Amino acid sequence: TQVLNIVGGGMAGAEAAWQAANMGVNVVIHEMRPEVGTFAHRTGDLAEMVCSNSFRSDDDENNAVGLLHWEMRAAGGLIMEMADAHALPAGGALAVDRDAFAAGVTARLRAHPRVRVVGHELRDLPDEGQWIIATGPLTSGPLAEAIREATGADQLAFFDAIAPIVHFDTVDLSKAWFQSRYDKGETEEERTAYLNCPMDRDQYERFIDALLAADKTEFREGETAQYFDGCLPIEVMAERGRETLRHGPMKPVGLTNPHAPQVKPHAVVQLRRDNALGTLYNIVGFQTKMKYGAQVEVFRMIPGLEAAQFARLGGIHRNTFINSPTLLDREMRLRARPWIRFAGQITGVEGYVESAAMGLLAGRLAAAELLGRTLPPPPRDTAMGALVAHITGDAEAKSFQPMNVNFGLFPPIDARGGRRGRKERYRAYTDRAKQAFGAWLAAEGEGAVVADGAAG
Ligand code: FAD
Repeated sequence: TQVLNIVGGGMAGAEAAWQAANMGVNVVIHEMRPEVGTFAHRTGDLAEMVCSNSFRSDDDENNAVGLLHWEMRAAGGLIMEMADAHALPAGGALAVDRDAFAAGVTARLRAHPRVRVVGHELRDLPDEGQWIIATGPLTSGPLAEAIREATGADQLAFFDAIAPIVHFDTVDLSKAWFQSRYDKGETEEERTAYLNCPMDRDQYERFIDALLAADKTEFREGETAQYFDGCLPIEVMAERGRETLRHGPMKPVGLTNPHAPQVKPHAVVQLRRDNALGTLYNIVGFQTKMKYGAQVEVFRMIPGLEAAQFARLGGIHRNTFINSPTLLDREMRLRARPWIRFAGQITGVEGYVESAAMGLLAGRLAAAELLGRTLPPPPRDTAMGALVAHITGDAEAKSFQPMNVNFGLFPPIDARGGRRGRKERYRAYTDRAKQAFGAWLAAEGEGAVVADGAAG
């Protein structure tokens, strides 16, 4: 029988292996550590957490990442099982003892009768077989080069430059307005492509002061290298001169404020639609190394964003990821080489939990394919389904940047029955998701996977 090869034994690769093996498929995990290292990993263990030891909120009623925990637990996920087994007290968050967690994942997989772990750095894209590439944000150089060659130079990024993303329904439309610069575009979709927030001179000057004064995070050693190409953090632009932003991303040209047509704004912050649903908008050109708390404070100074809720905040990190909306089909296969799936952070999701979730899905999809079964991706009402739909097509390919799971990715729920409170709405999202996820698992015929490797 055919083997499933999984490259990278991180969060995604480990979970993919567990899922596929429990469906009855033989799996080989190719992991380059400890022979070949990265600047962030310290050990040779599978599923090493490279930075924080938190899986974030465990609230599965009001929080999208907590909901993802719930779905992974329901699907018999190894990452969640080991996280629960090695949890540390952390309030509403799920923090873990990182060494015990990674050791637990490693032991479980090594003991599984259908899993083999080999020390191997993949350096080329395979021409045949069944593969999942889950080599993460620090994919080794030769493999990254091979992916770049196969997909095109502009389809693989080595840094993310994430501009903050705002929930559309928290933008104050009595101040902001829809318009593309010079009114390009005529369709409804084009008309709503950009939101604009005007600033007068005073507001602009105060905004620059706040940017300059804000707390920033530093790059880690070994993390930098030509990140300045084309994605300067806004605070660095502001440091170069107080007018730089006004001539860059905040230039006020080609726009007329319908709320005050006779007043020419001194500067304009533009937000660009970030998903097909129109529930999320990113602040154009606002990649930043400001600390999260500072970002919220500074960005809420923007007229129209005083009450903005952020689906994700900005950042710039060393991060290898592909342009999934262009390159992958809905089953996470590389369109040009459908025997290769991608999973984890390299697909443009962000974080331990999201990466593990995409591994879970890729493992199941690949195993189903090998077993000659059809397995549809989970419904979009679920956290896993919303996330995979986003990266495999719903996200805007041109401005694609890594994404955390959040309710803005879900089909909106408050259209019927009028406006509800946020808490009530989140509860409605999670209720709907749990039901849909349960049905998806059940349709697969088995519910939670039988963990026959769990005996040892
Ligand atoms: P990884 O967990 O990185 O696993 C990929 C595996 O592939 C690694 O074991 C690597 O050794 C292996 N590999 C790479 N190339 C090859 C190759 N060619 N052949 C064979 N094996 C290979 N996320 C958070 O949620 N919280 C944080 O605090 C956080 N901090 C981070 C800090 C840094 C510096 C970085 C780089 C990332 C951080 N992340 C954080 C993101 C986090 O790393 C990922 O979300 C998560 O680990 C991704 O899982 P993954 O399986 O896709 O990749």
